[in-house]
Amino acid sequence: MRRFAGKHLLVATHNRGKLEEMAALLAPFGITVSSAADHDLPEPDETGTHFVENARIKAHAAAQATGLPALSDDSGIEIDALGGAPGVYTADWAETPNGRDFVMAMEKTHNLLEEVDAPHPRTARFCCTLVLAWPDGHDEVFAGVMPGRVVWPMRGDQGHGYDPIFVPDGYDITFGEMNRWEKNQISHRARAVEMLKQAIVA
Ligand code: IMP
Repeated sequence: MRRFAGKHLLVATHNRGKLEEMAALLAPFGITVSSAADHDLPEPDETGTHFVENARIKAHAAAQATGLPALSDDSGIEIDALGGAPGVYTADWAETPNGRDFVMAMEKTHNLLEEVDAPHPRTARFCCTLVLAWPDGHDEVFAGVMPGRVVWPMRGDQGHGYDPIFVPDGYDITFGEMNRWEKNQISHRARAVEMLKQAIVA
C-alpha cells in the first residue's frame, strides 16, 4: 500500500457536511484539509454505478487538476426494502432545480417505503468509500459501513443529508440527534477513515 506522508489533503468534495466531518476525523493525525471549492474545481459527472467508481472519478479529477494528492468520499444509504436504493443515487434523490433538498428526499424515501408496505425495522446501511489518489494516477481505496434502520418522522437537526431518518444499530437516536463527536465515533465515514489510517504516516 502506498503511504501518505503529507500534512494537508485536498478533499475532493463540494459537500460542506462531508468536508467538516472529514476535517474532524483527520485532525488527530495533524492533517488539515481544503475542499474542491477552495481550489475552484468543477464537480465532475458521477457516472459510476458503484460508490468506488464515483469516488475514483472525483479523486483522480482533483489530483490531476491540482497536482496534489486528493481524497474523495462517495457515500450513500442503501435501504433493503427498496432493493438497495437510493445507494449510489442518494444525492440525486435530493436534486431540485434550485439545489439539493434533503427534506424532500427523506419524504420521498418514506413515501416509497409506505407504498411497498415495508416491514419494520426498515433495515438500511450507510456506506462510505474513500479514494486517495495521487497525481501520477495511483490510488488506494478504503470502505466503511454502518448498519441501522430508517425511521419516520425525521428527528434531530445535527449532521447533514439523511441523518434525521437513520438510527444506527445499537442506538435509539438518529444520526441527526447525535452531536458530531458522537457520530464521528461510529459512522460509516469514521470506519472508512479507520481503514485510511493504515495509509497515513504518523
Ligand atoms: P455523494 O457521495 O456526493 O454522491 O453524495 C452522497 C449523499 O449521501 C450525500 O449527499 C448525503 O445525502 C448522503 N450521505 C452520505 N453520508 C451521509 C451521512 O453521514 N449522513 C447523512 N447523509 C449522508
